Amino acid sequence: MAIDFSIDPDFQQKLDWIRAFMHEDIEPFASVFRDVSPYNKQHAVQDAIVRPLQKKVQEQGLWACHLGPELGGQGYGQVKLALMNEILGRSHWAPSIFGCQAPDSGNAEILAHYGTEAQKQEFLRPLLDGEIVSTYSMTEPQGGADPSLFTCRAERDGSDWVINGEKWFASNYRYASFLIVMLVTNPDVDVYRGSSMLLVPAGAPGLELIRNVGVEGESEGDHAYLRFNNVRVPSENLLGEEGQGFMVAQTRLGGGRLHHGMRSVGMAQRALDMMCERALSRTTRGKQLGKHQSVREKIANTWIELQQFRLQVLYAAWIVDQYGGNSEQARLHIAGVKVETPKILIDTIGRAMHLHGALGITSELPLARSWLMAPSLGLADGPTEVHENTVARQVLKQYSPVDTLFPSEHLPSRMEKYKARYKDLL
Ligand SMILES: Cc1cc2nc3c(=O)[nH]c(=O)nc-3n(C[C@H](O)[C@H](O)[C@H](O)COP(=O)(O)OP(=O)(O)OC[C@H]3O[C@@H](n4cnc5c(N)ncnc54)[C@H](O)[C@@H]3O)c2cc1C
Repeated sequence: MAIDFSIDPDFQQKLDWIRAFMHEDIEPFASVFRDVSPYNKQHAVQDAIVRPLQKKVQEQGLWACHLGPELGGQGYGQVKLALMNEILGRSHWAPSIFGCQAPDSGNAEILAHYGTEAQKQEFLRPLLDGEIVSTYSMTEPQGGADPSLFTCRAERDGSDWVINGEKWFASNYRYASFLIVMLVTNPDVDVYRGSSMLLVPAGAPGLELIRNVGVEGESEGDHAYLRFNNVRVPSENLLGEEGQGFMVAQTRLGGGRLHHGMRSVGMAQRALDMMCERALSRTTRGKQLGKHQSVREKIANTWIELQQFRLQVLYAAWIVDQYGGNSEQARLHIAGVKVETPKILIDTIGRAMHLHGALGITSELPLARSWLMAPSLGLADGPTEVHENTVARQVLKQYSPVDTLFPSEHLPSRMEKYKARYKDLL
């Protein structure tokens, strides 16, 4: 197998354009409107600034590149997406400006696969055009990592589904036009065979917002605690077959997890850039910070860890391109990236914050907010431990037990086994 790290020159030109566009257009805008949610389509910046920027992206043929041409994208493989996303990761506004923000990217894929023509017209088209946003709702207040604890039910009533129960951490519901919801449709079988996915319009009668939960110290945030009180949707709102909710969910989760990893490379790189600028600009005890040995170690370790993570992400992306997102190989590598993502951010951004002294932890630099967000990536789309379990399961499959008392690497046993081969020399 050839190993080639070079980038196709045409695509490199696109990456150069994205980098310049980020620097000249997105970063200045994002620094002024950092408290506005990119998901708030009602805000004045959308028409005044965001749409013209999105138009520039479309003119470059870089809009929603994760989607195939039939949905208006480029159908780029994951390796190209990784190279793009590591640039976009530098700003929380960039994914919306490039039409690839979560959870809309995954929800669009579900609707494209399983939606009716009418649903595609009403929800998918405006979602792809960046006019509306959506919510993906699976977690329940009594437990997210273990779906067997889910109780939110959808029951058939004539040609409708009637939904009752609660959902937790439904991100961006306050801005969303619709939700894709995981529901128990048959409580008498295993949850993986008894759950289904339903499309629910936001504001459907009976859909109650209990509160918007804040994170990172916000008093009110973007993660909805919802109660469904006899919410009624027609039977065609079932996405995929009844009982196949988890199979439908798989359409979106793998890619989404990897894209978070890709963007985290960009966030960590930004932290390293800030560290290096600081190390060269500040003096203490008569010399530049960057000349102190302990600071040099921090910079070296940050660079090394970032290289390792970046290669891990790119390799996982390559595996998905080679074997498909649902292959065993892809699951192993995506889970590995998912586990490493919060760690690399906590470590790199943490060091960059520390090197900036008191300024580092203030709201006058982007570091503290990014650092507080990092642990979320160890929970959203499933906690680290669940993905560690996936990695360990796949790795252990590659091994078999020995039937001997001592391990296969036991030196005396090996000596005994092989010494006859060299008896003339011994
Ligand atoms: C920023 C953010 C956005 C989110 N957005 C959404 C969204 O839009 N839609 C949605 O449905 N959900 C969303 N979530 C919820 C997320 O999917 C859940 O937080 C996650 O699945 C974990 O569920 P939980 O919070 O109930 O934690 P629990 O299931 O209670 O787990 C808590 C802890 O218990 C331990 N644990 C759990 N399971 C295991 C195990 N098998 N082995 C060992 N230890 C274990 C881990 O330490 C874990 O962190 C979001 C979460 C965050 C932080």
